Amino acid sequence: MRTSEKTRKLRQLLLEWYALHKPDLPWRARREPYEIWISEIMLQQTRVQTVLPYYERFLRRFPTVRALAEAKEPEVISLWAGLGYYSRARNLHRAAKLIGERYQWNFPEKLAEIIELPGVGRYTAGAIASIAFNEPVPIVDGNVRRVISRLHGTESRPPEAYFWKTAKEWIPDGRAAEFNQAVMELGAVVCTPATPLCLKCPVRSLCEARKRGIQDKIPVRRAIPEARAVRLVMLVVEGK
Ligand code: SF4
Repeated sequence: MRTSEKTRKLRQLLLEWYALHKPDLPWRARREPYEIWISEIMLQQTRVQTVLPYYERFLRRFPTVRALAEAKEPEVISLWAGLGYYSRARNLHRAAKLIGERYQWNFPEKLAEIIELPGVGRYTAGAIASIAFNEPVPIVDGNVRRVISRLHGTESRPPEAYFWKTAKEWIPDGRAAEFNQAVMELGAVVCTPATPLCLKCPVRSLCEARKRGIQDKIPVRRAIPEARAVRLVMLVVEGK
Protein backbone atom coordinates (compact mmCIF):
# COMPACT_ATOMS: atom_id res chain seq x y z
CA MET A 1 0.00 0.00 0.00
CA ARG A 2 1.31 3.47 -0.84
CA THR A 3 2.11 5.77 2.03
CA SER A 4 0.22 9.05 1.95
CA GLU A 5 1.97 12.41 2.26
CA LYS A 6 0.17 12.94 5.58
CA THR A 7 1.57 9.70 7.05
CA ARG A 8 5.06 10.58 5.88
CA LYS A 9 4.79 13.97 7.56
CA LEU A 10 3.40 12.42 10.74
CA ARG A 11 6.35 10.02 10.98
CA GLN A 12 8.90 12.75 10.40
CA LEU A 13 7.39 15.18 12.92
CA LEU A 14 6.92 12.56 15.61
CA LEU A 15 10.41 11.11 15.26
CA GLU A 16 11.99 14.58 15.40
CA TRP A 17 9.95 15.45 18.46
CA TYR A 18 10.76 12.18 20.23
CA ALA A 19 14.48 12.61 19.64
CA LEU A 20 14.25 15.78 21.77
CA HIS A 21 11.64 14.61 24.30
CA LYS A 22 12.59 11.03 25.02
CA PRO A 23 11.82 10.45 28.74
CA ASP A 24 14.73 9.77 31.03
CA LEU A 25 13.69 6.30 32.16
CA PRO A 26 16.04 3.36 32.74
CA TRP A 27 14.12 1.01 30.40
CA ARG A 28 14.23 3.61 27.60
CA ALA A 29 18.01 4.03 27.85
CA ARG A 30 18.79 0.48 26.67
CA ARG A 31 17.25 -2.01 24.35
CA GLU A 32 17.80 -5.21 26.30
CA PRO A 33 14.70 -7.37 25.75
CA TYR A 34 14.90 -8.79 29.27
CA GLU A 35 14.88 -5.32 30.82
CA ILE A 36 12.09 -4.09 28.56
CA TRP A 37 10.05 -7.16 29.42
CA ILE A 38 10.43 -6.62 33.18
CA SER A 39 9.49 -2.93 32.84
CA GLU A 40 6.45 -3.64 30.66
CA ILE A 41 5.12 -6.27 33.08
CA MET A 42 5.67 -3.98 36.08
CA LEU A 43 3.97 -1.07 34.29
CA GLN A 44 0.88 -3.12 33.40
CA GLN A 45 -1.15 -2.01 36.40
CA THR A 46 1.27 0.33 38.14
CA ARG A 47 2.39 3.93 37.70
CA VAL A 48 5.89 4.82 36.49
CA GLN A 49 7.00 6.51 39.71
CA THR A 50 5.95 3.50 41.79
CA VAL A 51 7.66 1.07 39.43
CA LEU A 52 11.09 2.80 39.36
CA PRO A 53 12.54 1.56 42.71
CA TYR A 54 11.06 -1.93 42.22
CA TYR A 55 12.53 -2.13 38.75
CA GLU A 56 16.03 -1.17 39.93
CA ARG A 57 15.89 -3.62 42.85
CA PHE A 58 14.53 -6.47 40.74
CA LEU A 59 17.25 -6.07 38.09
CA ARG A 60 19.98 -5.81 40.70
CA ARG A 61 18.92 -9.13 42.18
CA PHE A 62 17.99 -10.81 38.86
CA PRO A 63 20.18 -9.21 36.17
CA THR A 64 19.51 -11.96 33.60
CA VAL A 65 16.74 -14.32 32.54
CA ARG A 66 18.76 -17.16 33.99
CA ALA A 67 19.18 -15.52 37.38
CA LEU A 68 15.41 -15.04 37.54
CA ALA A 69 14.64 -18.60 36.44
CA GLU A 70 17.02 -20.11 39.00
CA ALA A 71 15.61 -18.13 41.93
CA LYS A 72 13.03 -19.66 44.25
CA GLU A 73 9.50 -18.36 43.74
CA PRO A 74 9.13 -16.93 47.29
CA GLU A 75 12.13 -14.69 46.69
CA VAL A 76 10.71 -13.44 43.38
CA ILE A 77 7.42 -12.71 45.12
CA SER A 78 9.17 -10.96 48.01
CA LEU A 79 10.82 -8.52 45.57
CA TRP A 80 7.36 -7.85 44.14
CA ALA A 81 5.79 -7.20 47.53
CA GLY A 82 3.86 -3.92 47.39
CA LEU A 83 3.37 -3.88 43.61
CA GLY A 84 0.26 -6.05 43.78
CA TYR A 85 -1.15 -8.38 41.12
CA TYR A 86 1.28 -11.12 42.11
CA SER A 87 0.33 -13.31 39.18
CA ARG A 88 2.60 -11.00 37.17
CA ALA A 89 5.63 -12.08 39.24
CA ARG A 90 4.67 -15.76 39.04
CA ASN A 91 4.28 -15.52 35.27
CA LEU A 92 7.67 -13.78 34.94
CA HIS A 93 9.28 -16.61 36.85
CA ARG A 94 7.54 -19.29 34.76
CA ALA A 95 8.39 -17.46 31.53
CA ALA A 96 12.08 -17.16 32.51
CA LYS A 97 12.23 -20.94 32.99
CA LEU A 98 10.54 -21.45 29.64
CA ILE A 99 13.09 -19.17 27.92
CA GLY A 100 15.83 -21.39 29.35
CA GLU A 101 14.17 -24.63 28.19
CA ARG A 102 13.01 -23.45 24.80
CA TYR A 103 15.56 -20.82 23.76
CA GLN A 104 18.68 -21.70 25.83
CA TRP A 105 18.47 -18.40 27.74
CA ASN A 106 18.30 -16.24 24.61
CA PHE A 107 15.27 -13.99 24.71
CA PRO A 108 12.93 -14.88 21.81
CA GLU A 109 13.09 -12.25 19.07
CA LYS A 110 9.85 -12.61 17.16
CA LEU A 111 6.43 -11.39 18.20
CA ALA A 112 4.96 -14.84 17.49
CA GLU A 113 7.37 -16.41 20.02
CA ILE A 114 7.26 -13.66 22.62
CA ILE A 115 3.47 -13.72 22.78
CA GLU A 116 3.59 -17.37 23.88
CA LEU A 117 5.36 -16.51 27.14
CA PRO A 118 3.14 -16.70 30.24
CA GLY A 119 1.65 -13.31 31.16
CA VAL A 120 2.49 -11.69 27.82
CA GLY A 121 -0.37 -10.34 25.71
CA ARG A 122 -0.46 -8.60 22.36
CA TYR A 123 0.52 -5.21 23.75
CA THR A 124 3.52 -6.43 25.77
CA ALA A 125 4.73 -8.71 22.97
CA GLY A 126 4.49 -5.79 20.53
CA ALA A 127 6.41 -3.53 22.92
CA ILE A 128 9.26 -6.03 23.34
CA ALA A 129 9.42 -7.02 19.66
CA SER A 130 9.38 -3.45 18.39
CA ILE A 131 11.47 -1.70 21.05
CA ALA A 132 14.11 -4.39 21.57
CA PHE A 133 14.23 -5.92 18.08
CA ASN A 134 12.80 -3.15 15.90
CA GLU A 135 10.19 -5.55 14.49
CA PRO A 136 7.58 -3.42 12.66
CA VAL A 137 4.65 -4.46 14.83
CA PRO A 138 2.21 -2.04 16.45
CA ILE A 139 1.49 -1.33 20.11
CA VAL A 140 -1.97 -0.12 21.05
CA ASP A 141 -2.91 1.13 24.49
CA GLY A 142 -5.23 3.89 25.71
CA ASN A 143 -2.70 6.59 24.79
CA VAL A 144 -2.29 5.31 21.24
CA ARG A 145 -6.06 4.91 20.76
CA ARG A 146 -6.59 8.51 21.83
CA VAL A 147 -3.88 9.89 19.52
CA ILE A 148 -5.25 7.94 16.53
CA SER A 149 -8.85 8.95 17.27
CA ARG A 150 -7.97 12.64 17.55
CA LEU A 151 -5.59 12.80 14.60
CA HIS A 152 -8.28 11.16 12.44
CA GLY A 153 -11.12 13.11 14.04
CA THR A 154 -12.96 9.85 14.71
CA GLU A 155 -16.34 10.69 16.24
CA SER A 156 -17.56 7.11 16.50
CA ARG A 157 -16.14 4.16 18.43
CA PRO A 158 -14.28 2.10 15.84
CA PRO A 159 -13.55 -1.58 16.43
CA GLU A 160 -10.26 -2.44 18.12
CA ALA A 161 -8.87 -3.80 14.85
CA TYR A 162 -9.00 -0.28 13.38
CA PHE A 163 -6.44 0.97 15.93
CA TRP A 164 -4.05 -1.94 15.42
CA LYS A 165 -4.27 -1.55 11.64
CA THR A 166 -3.66 2.22 11.77
CA ALA A 167 -0.79 1.92 14.25
CA LYS A 168 0.80 -0.70 12.00
CA GLU A 169 0.42 1.44 8.86
CA TRP A 170 2.04 4.41 10.57
CA ILE A 171 5.32 2.60 11.44
CA PRO A 172 8.17 3.87 9.22
CA ASP A 173 10.61 1.40 7.69
CA GLY A 174 13.41 0.50 10.08
CA ARG A 175 12.20 2.87 12.86
CA ALA A 176 9.60 0.82 14.76
CA ALA A 177 11.39 1.16 18.10
CA GLU A 178 11.53 4.95 18.22
CA PHE A 179 8.25 5.49 16.43
CA ASN A 180 6.10 3.30 18.69
CA GLN A 181 7.59 4.95 21.76
CA ALA A 182 7.01 8.38 20.22
CA VAL A 183 3.27 7.75 19.73
CA MET A 184 2.89 6.42 23.28
CA GLU A 185 4.83 9.32 24.73
CA LEU A 186 2.78 11.84 22.78
CA GLY A 187 -0.40 10.32 24.25
CA ALA A 188 1.07 10.26 27.75
CA VAL A 189 2.38 13.82 27.99
CA VAL A 190 0.84 15.98 25.21
CA CYS A 191 -2.36 14.44 23.84
CA THR A 192 -3.63 13.83 27.36
CA PRO A 193 -7.20 12.68 28.11
CA ALA A 194 -8.89 15.77 29.57
CA THR A 195 -6.99 18.77 28.18
CA PRO A 196 -4.62 18.00 25.33
CA LEU A 197 -1.70 20.42 25.05
CA CYS A 198 -2.30 21.13 21.38
CA LEU A 199 -0.05 24.19 21.24
CA LYS A 200 2.91 21.98 22.21
CA CYS A 201 1.92 19.15 19.88
CA PRO A 202 4.37 18.35 17.07
CA VAL A 203 1.60 16.99 14.84
CA ARG A 204 -1.04 19.67 15.42
CA SER A 205 -0.97 20.71 11.75
CA LEU A 206 -2.19 17.20 10.84
CA CYS A 207 -4.85 16.86 13.53
CA GLU A 208 -8.48 16.62 12.39
CA ALA A 209 -9.91 16.97 15.90
CA ARG A 210 -7.98 20.20 16.45
CA LYS A 211 -9.03 21.52 13.06
CA ARG A 212 -12.67 21.02 14.03
CA GLY A 213 -12.19 22.10 17.66
CA ILE A 214 -13.46 18.79 19.04
CA GLN A 215 -10.33 17.49 20.80
CA ASP A 216 -12.05 17.24 24.17
CA LYS A 217 -14.96 15.23 22.72
CA ILE A 218 -12.68 12.57 21.26
CA PRO A 219 -12.38 9.68 21.90
CA VAL A 220 -16.11 9.40 22.39
CA ARG A 221 -17.12 7.68 25.56
CA ARG A 222 -19.13 4.52 25.51
CA ALA A 223 -22.77 5.41 26.05
CA ILE A 224 -24.01 4.31 29.45
CA PRO A 225 -27.08 2.21 28.82
CA GLU A 226 -30.21 3.73 30.29
CA ALA A 227 -31.62 1.94 33.26
CA ARG A 228 -34.53 -0.17 32.11
CA ALA A 229 -37.61 -0.52 34.21
CA VAL A 230 -38.23 -4.18 34.95
CA ARG A 231 -41.71 -5.23 35.85
CA LEU A 232 -41.97 -8.34 37.95
CA VAL A 233 -45.14 -10.33 38.05
CA MET A 234 -45.39 -12.75 40.93
CA LEU A 235 -47.67 -15.68 40.86
CA VAL A 236 -48.44 -17.11 44.24
CA VAL A 237 -49.93 -20.54 44.26
CA GLU A 238 -51.45 -21.50 47.54
CA GLY A 239 -51.66 -25.10 48.48
CA LYS A 240 -54.80 -26.58 49.96
FE1 SF4 B 1 -3.80 15.60 20.42
FE2 SF4 B 1 -4.07 18.25 20.18
FE3 SF4 B 1 -1.99 16.97 19.08
FE4 SF4 B 1 -4.44 16.70 18.09
S1 SF4 B 1 -3.25 18.59 18.15
S2 SF4 B 1 -2.96 15.06 18.43
S3 SF4 B 1 -5.68 16.72 19.94
S4 SF4 B 1 -2.46 17.15 21.28
